[in-house]
Amino acid sequence: MTEFASLIRAVPDFPKPGVTFRDITPLLADGPAFARCIDALVEPWLGSGVQAVCGVESRGFIFAAAMAQKLGAGFVPLRKPGKLPPPVMHADYQLEYGTDRLEARVGTVRQGERVVLVDDVLATGGTIGAARNLLGQLGAELLGASVVIELLALQGRALWPREIPLHSVLHY
Ligand code: 5GP
Repeated sequence: MTEFASLIRAVPDFPKPGVTFRDITPLLADGPAFARCIDALVEPWLGSGVQAVCGVESRGFIFAAAMAQKLGAGFVPLRKPGKLPPPVMHADYQLEYGTDRLEARVGTVRQGERVVLVDDVLATGGTIGAARNLLGQLGAELLGASVVIELLALQGRALWPREIPLHSVLHY
């Protein structure tokens, strides 16, 4: 565990009973800790020719945009439905009740572009799986993914292809 782990707050029974929510806002509010977190996120990708960092709405944007600056790469938002102007491509994923969708604007990722996918938390793996699917539809070359927090008990990694690197900075 990295020392900024102490700035992630565990909030019991949020957003509903039985769920422990990992709150990243104290980490974001601490400048040096946020900077160290970004350094840890970019470290696996230094020198790998990343052209775009793709962030999942909304907390993924915060980390992905900062990583893009460090890596000299572009930033691509993968958004909730109805936020991006057409044309868009989409990928759906299962929630506990119902489905949700991520969208990307056609043309923001070029065919064969070397991209890294970023989100704040890996829980069941549904969100990052849909994001991977979407980047595949866009023809990106997915170098791998980075998350700040991996919730090991939820086994989201089991849904992720073994041959594609998936880095997590903190594990609970
Ligand atoms: P999954 O699809 O892997 O089950 O859930 C991951 C998504 O839900 C991420 O986009 C993440 O932002 C959000 N998420 C799930 N649990 C938490 C949590 O404990 N803390 C935060 N900050 N986000 C969470």
